[in-house]
Amino acid sequence: MITATPKARQTSAWQRELAAAITDPRELLEQLGLPASLVEGADPVSAAFPLRVPRGFVRRMRRGDPADPLLRQVLPLAVEARAVPGYVADPLREADARRAPGLLHKYRGRALLVATGACAVHCRYCFRREFPYAEQVGHLGRWREALLQVSADASIRELILSGGDPLSLGDERLAQLTGELAGIPHLETLRIHTRQPVVLPERVDAGLLGWLRHLPWRTVVVLHVNHPNELDGSVYDALAGLRDAGATLLNQSVLLAGVNDDASVLAALSRRLHRAGVLPYYLHLPDAVAGTAHFDVPESRGRELIADLARELPGYLVPRLVREVPGRDAKTTIAAGLGAAPEAIV
Ligand SMILES: *Cc1c(COP(=O)(O)O)cnc(C)c1O
Ligand code: SF4
Repeated sequence: MITATPKARQTSAWQRELAAAITDPRELLEQLGLPASLVEGADPVSAAFPLRVPRGFVRRMRRGDPADPLLRQVLPLAVEARAVPGYVADPLREADARRAPGLLHKYRGRALLVATGACAVHCRYCFRREFPYAEQVGHLGRWREALLQVSADASIRELILSGGDPLSLGDERLAQLTGELAGIPHLETLRIHTRQPVVLPERVDAGLLGWLRHLPWRTVVVLHVNHPNELDGSVYDALAGLRDAGATLLNQSVLLAGVNDDASVLAALSRRLHRAGVLPYYLHLPDAVAGTAHFDVPESRGRELIADLARELPGYLVPRLVREVPGRDAKTTIAAGLGAAPEAIV
């Protein structure tokens, strides 16, 4: 008699896809017809923050192009090991905003729960690459203190599930978490910060959509797309599902040298997102995280790009260029349209 093990029965398509992600830089380069010499000297940085990229995302990369904007976001490079003055492990001083294991409360009215440290993709520029996840990884035991804090503070109207990527948690874990949250009367909005519908669209399956549809709050999904090539038919289908389940869809991007520091790329991104029912929200200037200096774009260039977008697109398709300044009450807007008008002559 052959019986499926419980584990095998519970594995869904997205979990198999996640498990099959590419983690060997040389295999990735081989698939793209690129020489292994591109990752020469990068073994120490790979060991510290390993490559991880789902195969479906790799299929959206251009073969034979070492400068491909999707490849650049995930390929470990020797240059990351270079120490650059001013680039540190925790530039946002998030440790200061920690209210409980996994709970960051920086801004009035909303708190952020690091629901898990896991992600389907490892983005080389990530500001959380240096985060002490071992302590933050979520399960109900770990969340308990965070949930107590949220329920004790009636000023928190919105809880943001973040990470890592909160959708790395299985449907059951998500349901457990929102089941606990459902008892908190002052919560009005649940926000989910996720890159999974983009890098692993299989994650948006019937189980996830059923969960989302039945949540008792307004739901906002803030995606993370940096380049229009990240969007293909499978992603459009996933986004349509999320919208249909009642979520408001927004996108945040990080402004990255060699990926999207170009007005025509950003304009194409806004247009393609809009086609999928997603409005641009933030364009983040990269944080000064150790190992990411090669992605940096000067603030002046960021302002120029936003002004170019404002000339080209309706206002609702122009993201707000922001930077996170530790200790402030909100993200700091650097540009949100054309620059200030020259002073009127009276
Ligand atoms: C960015 C961030 C938020 C959300 O800020 P919004 O401006 O509402 O998008 C909330 N909490 C923390 C800790 C953040 O870093
Ligand atoms: S998916 Fe988000 S949290 Fe995860 S590595 Fe990428 S940027 Fe960082």
